[in-house]
Order: sequence, then structure tokens, then C-alpha cells
Amino acid sequence: MKLQVDDDELAACVACGLCLPHCPTFRVTGDETRSPRGRIAAMRAVHWEGMPADETFVRVMDECVQCRGCEPACPSAVPFGHLMEGARATLAAETGYQPRWRRAAYRMLGHHRLLVLGSRALAVAQRLHLTPRRLGLPELPLRSAPLRASGSDVWLFTGCVMDAWQRDVHRAVQRVVEATGTGVALPGKGSDCCGALHVHAGLRDDARRLAERVMGSMPGDAPILVDAAGCGAALKDYGRLVGTAEAERFSARVLDVHEWLVPRLDLLPVVSQMSAAVVAVQDPCHLRHVQRTHLAVRTVLARYTALVELDDEGLCCGAGGAYSVQQPELAGDIRARKVEVIARSGAAVVASANPGCMLHLAATGIRVRHPFEIVAEALDAG
Ligand code: SF4
Ligand code: SF4
Repeated sequence: MKLQVDDDELAACVACGLCLPHCPTFRVTGDETRSPRGRIAAMRAVHWEGMPADETFVRVMDECVQCRGCEPACPSAVPFGHLMEGARATLAAETGYQPRWRRAAYRMLGHHRLLVLGSRALAVAQRLHLTPRRLGLPELPLRSAPLRASGSDVWLFTGCVMDAWQRDVHRAVQRVVEATGTGVALPGKGSDCCGALHVHAGLRDDARRLAERVMGSMPGDAPILVDAAGCGAALKDYGRLVGTAEAERFSARVLDVHEWLVPRLDLLPVVSQMSAAVVAVQDPCHLRHVQRTHLAVRTVLARYTALVELDDEGLCCGAGGAYSVQQPELAGDIRARKVEVIARSGAAVVASANPGCMLHLAATGIRVRHPFEIVAEALDAG
């Protein structure tokens, strides 16, 4: 089987192993086949040596969190994310890797109204104690007031799960952005989902369709602010995904909200006192390893609260988009390491700028906030 990967990118790995300590699945298993080097070796065997893409190969690919923690650690600059996306796209196109029911679940993300209705039904079921605890779901909102646009200086991308389950985070972001004197526009029709999970699942055609719609939902030249690390990384990659000059231009307008706010911090009202809580910053992988804008979170938060660093060099928390649902055992083992690190830090609150990480960590009882929720509260307190 020929994988949809670039031969030069696949050849770039020199098997040095420097990425291994940065790989969460290798860290919890010590198993070479669950390391970046092992996964690249498996891709080479299938792509160049004619090995069958059998069950073992599918497992080896499927167990990767796609955190891309291996990329900044790699001296040969192997673009591991591209390789894994290409391998999964091939499996999705040529094998039963993504069964119909999973494809249908991914498609639902592209129908926001349906997602909101489904979430509401789930919220009712939760109130009636009809949802099993092992699902690890947060308490979903029964209803949430719609956001209201306040201008046209910047777009605020709202997306799928975050808007259905955590709209209050968008509300906090809007509150902070407006406090700088900036008017916020909300996307029009078609902004249902960024397609990040579809790319991860190898469903590139679905992802491209969603990307085209998202681009149409925020026309013009205004910057596009994103408060979810995974969505921000996806929107910044539309140039590569869609492959047009228009998509390149769109991606160039996308900013993570923290990187947008840093040069504007002095526009925010001065607050009289810092929060008493000590906050640990959890770096979502797609902010730290992909967008590489994680330091901006600290710059923003340091004005409002005391911060502590986690001593695990940004190792993944195991959420990985749909990974925690599809690989619950490995995701749980990876999270257990993160929970230990958080406990060691002594922090009362964890700040995380990605909905998947927030939900995955909060399911253990840890108090998790989006950084902009902390800033909005500080501004409200004055
Ligand atoms: S993307 Fe993450 S889980 Fe996958 S091989 Fe790289 S470090 Fe390991
Ligand atoms: S991916 Fe990079 S760091 Fe990992 S083994 Fe290959 S060359 Fe070394």
C-alpha cells in the first residue's frame, strides 16, 4: 500500500530516538511501537517495503495521540503530524479504518443545530441520571444565551463542541476582547466546525468541505480570533489542507486569542488586585507544539494571577480530540501522569486553552478554567 505521505518527509527520520521521551504513549508504555520512531518505521515498512497494512499497523497508527510533541524535539525536523495525517487518510480511504458509525458521528459536528439539540437532550438525560458516569462528560448546559456581535474589527470563531458545551468561554473571550475597545463579529452560516477532528481521523475530504464553509463564514480582511488551540491550529493550516491562494490568505488572518491580546494588554482596564488563586498553565499540544504560541498564555495571565509551571515539559494530557473516547485506556494512563504533575505543583486551578484538554482534566475533579475566563473575572472584579 502506498501511503499519502511525502517520501522526503518520511525519509527525514534518522532514528536517533531523541523524540521518545516527549511521546506520551511511549512514556506510559515504554513500547517502541508506541513511539514516533516506531510509528515511522511501520509507515516505511508499509509504504516502501510492501508490508501489509494489517491490524497491527492500524493499531500502531491509531494509538498515536497526534499531539506532535515529537516535532519540536526532533533535530531532523521530521513533520510527524503530516506523516500521521497521511497514513490515516490512506487507511480511511482504502480500509475499514473509519466505520460508518464513526464517519456519521464526525459528520454531525458539521451540523451545529443538530449538535446543540443533541447536547440539550444529553443535558436533560444527565439531570435524570440516565448517562453513565464512565462517559466522563461534564455537566452540559440545558440552554445558553446566544452570543451577540458588537462590531466588525475582529471575527471570533465559535466552532462546534466548544460552542455547544462551553459557550461561556466564548462569552468571556468576547468580554475581554471588547474591553480593549475592539468590536467583535460572529461568523455567519457555515462556521459549524473547523474540521480538525476530521483531519486527525483521516477524513480529509470532509475536512476540506468544512474548511470551505468556514472560510465563507468570515469574509473580508479582519483578523480571525480562535480560543480553542486545536481549532486555531486547524484554521492556520487551511492553506495546506485546501491548497488554494484564498485558503492561504484566510489562514494568514488567524490568530490564537492570546497571541492577539499580548500586544494589546495595556488597552485593558487596570485591575486593583491579583487573584489569590495559584494557577498552573497546562499547555494544549496544538498551542505549544503546533502553533507554538503557548508563552502568550503566561504573558496574559501573569497580570492577573500567580502562576506555577508544571514540571513535565509540556507532555500531552491524553485528550487528543476524540482520542480519549477512542483509546480510553491509554488516554487515562497519560492523564494520570498529568494529574500527578498538577498535584505536585500545588496549584488550585489549571488554566487550559483547549476544550478537549479542559474536559479531559476536569473529569478527574480538577478545577480547570480557560485563561480568558480568569482574565474576564479579574476585569469584572475591577
Ligand atoms: S504525535 Fe504525540 S503520540 Fe504521536 S508519536 Fe508524536 S509524540 Fe507520540
Ligand atoms: S522523528 Fe526525529 S527525533 Fe524521532 S527518531 Fe526520527 S529523527 Fe530522531
